[in-house]
Amino acid sequence: MKRVLYTFIIAVLLLSCKEVEKENVETIAEVQKPEVKLYTFSGGTVGVNNLELFSQDTTYQGQTKEFSDPFYVISHPKGNLMWDAGLPEALVAAPGPITPEGGAFTISRTDSVLNQLSIIGMTPDDIDFLALSHTHFDHSGHANVMHKSTWLVQGAEYDMVTSDEIKSSENAGLYDAIKELKNIERIEGDFDVFGDGTVVIKSMPGHTPGHQVLYLELTEHGPLLLTGDLYHLYENRAHKRVPSFNYDADQTLSSMDAFEAFAKEKNAKVYLQHQKEDFNKMPKAPEYLK
Ligand SMILES: [Zn+2]
Repeated sequence: MKRVLYTFIIAVLLLSCKEVEKENVETIAEVQKPEVKLYTFSGGTVGVNNLELFSQDTTYQGQTKEFSDPFYVISHPKGNLMWDAGLPEALVAAPGPITPEGGAFTISRTDSVLNQLSIIGMTPDDIDFLALSHTHFDHSGHANVMHKSTWLVQGAEYDMVTSDEIKSSENAGLYDAIKELKNIERIEGDFDVFGDGTVVIKSMPGHTPGHQVLYLELTEHGPLLLTGDLYHLYENRAHKRVPSFNYDADQTLSSMDAFEAFAKEKNAKVYLQHQKEDFNKMPKAPEYLK
């Protein structure tokens, strides 16, 4: 009987040790999150000559504004992701800013992606994944240079930008800007890029059919969100204003609600990519946020 009791006590002790061990392992895993680095680069500047485009009412009538147009490299122990691709690289060779037909925007870009990646000792070969918030011209500028990377794209965005309708329209340039990309990974909804929750693409459609934003968990800075073009201006975020040229206004408003709920849940700091004040807050490569 005594023997049985001893065996029982030892078994209980062993079991509780295992529990403690398991808890320790979980705590260590919690503390030792992989170090993720966020490098910020300038993909050019967009002078908006008619800010009225960025609301469905006349709020911004007669106003102009200069937008930043960054792209980013997110460095994770398991690989590197490029988020967005700036303005077209052809602008680098232009003698000055260019105002394309229509006159809504005056655009400029002063440096190529090859040159900019060299600042952090990288080449396009080091970029495992490319993800664009969406395929408008100010986010896909040097996408073709990244043709060896795997392009993570929402199915709806891919279908839109490769459709015959686009290819034969005045917007054929949208297709041309991504046509060299051959390693396509169609995603549907949210996508955890490295499988540990630190780099997550969040589906936020409306601006375009497959518009998306990026969520990052940085160890020192904490959680943050890069908005793509869900919001171009602080005022649009505060008042839920939808640009007049969005693909789907109702879908945009639903995405704004989902975004704000998620940002609150994660207590994430939000950076508006086109808002110059937010761009200026970011350390520029080779400096980084971690
Ligand atoms: Zn944009």
